[in-house]
Amino acid sequence: MNQNNITSEIIQKERDFVLQTYPRLPFVLSRGQGAYLFDTAENKYLDFGSGIAVTALGHCDKDVVRAIQQQVQKLSHVSNLYHSAPQAELAEKLCQLSFADKVFFSNSGTEAVEASLKFSRKYAKEKFGAGKTKLVAFSNGFHGRTFGALSITDREKYQAPFRPLLSEVEIIPYNDITAAQQTIDATTCAVVVEVVQGEGGINLANQQFMVALREICTKNDALLIVDEIQTGFGRTGTLWAYQHYEIQPDLMTLAKAMGGGLPIGATLLTNDVAEIITAGDHGSTFGGGPVAASAALVVLEQIRTPSMLKNVQELGTYLHDELIALELPQVIEIRSIGLMVGIELNTAAEPYYKKAHEYGILLLTAGPNVIRLLPPLTVTKDEIDKFIQAFNNLLMGKMHE
Ligand code: PLP
Repeated sequence: MNQNNITSEIIQKERDFVLQTYPRLPFVLSRGQGAYLFDTAENKYLDFGSGIAVTALGHCDKDVVRAIQQQVQKLSHVSNLYHSAPQAELAEKLCQLSFADKVFFSNSGTEAVEASLKFSRKYAKEKFGAGKTKLVAFSNGFHGRTFGALSITDREKYQAPFRPLLSEVEIIPYNDITAAQQTIDATTCAVVVEVVQGEGGINLANQQFMVALREICTKNDALLIVDEIQTGFGRTGTLWAYQHYEIQPDLMTLAKAMGGGLPIGATLLTNDVAEIITAGDHGSTFGGGPVAASAALVVLEQIRTPSMLKNVQELGTYLHDELIALELPQVIEIRSIGLMVGIELNTAAEPYYKKAHEYGILLLTAGPNVIRLLPPLTVTKDEIDKFIQAFNNLLMGKMHE
């Protein structure tokens, strides 16, 4: 069977048997190396989406692959009824490298958010009694698809089919200190915020807003949860995006880049909150399993290095400047921090997302008018130059040679 037939057969099987919750692009990816992905017909794509902020070290990083291989040969799973070294070591490193004192492990972003909501509810109830249950989140925020996370995700289209959701939720405008002052009160249990809104269009929180939010939360005994599922692990040029601001959260949610491609999520918390949580309050069969935790240890060790974070800062600036220099007529604004870039267009972004592969590049959207770029943190200047040329051709409708 030739490659074209294999490709169409796989696409047909996916359509026949996989629940159609995702529209997919018309090729089948078969392998990846560094910043590149290859399909079954050996077409090569420069991957500036990184599996939606997952493959931060590029595809098949040799140290991540080695750690997975070594661990899977020794012990691939133990339940959380037993101790295992990779999980304990990973928790220690995460705490040493952040504000946190304790970690709860799960398998995805939405699970990390669910855990943060449950921990906050129990904390508020135990410490302050019944009635302190309100959750505050922000317009255009995205926190996941399970019921709790969906309830604080400001997307009519995602919420409508599944109502009723959690009732004690208030969504307020992002970067609006007055709205935060008016809404966050003694009945507020927790405030959930993305330091940079990813799915919502690459919107950056401003300094005064984050500082004010921290103060308002403290004043009202409300916990501040930063959702760093997309921004964490060096994406913005610091290990955690909250480090750009002079604040410390009470809880932080992580996932995506954490496992180098394997599913793992984490909810980080201070001792003040952790003391309230006892055995049986929450759990996960797979959470923090030895293989994913071994991969995550390598990811964390590599990303935390000053040279990696410097690469993100410098090449992020370079990518931003090169995009501006293109002077594309569709571009209204370019918003970026580190290697997290939003290109706001005066037209729909989706047609470019769908056509990009024909130009040998893969990119993402963030809302109807924003093209989102999340290249691997290991991207090189040469790869950015190649991307810029292809991106220019894509937006100018010129087929490359
Ligand atoms: N929170 C943020 C900020 C995200 O960007 C995402 C996913 O895009 C999630 C939560 C949900 O993560 P997951 O898809 O792993 O459940």
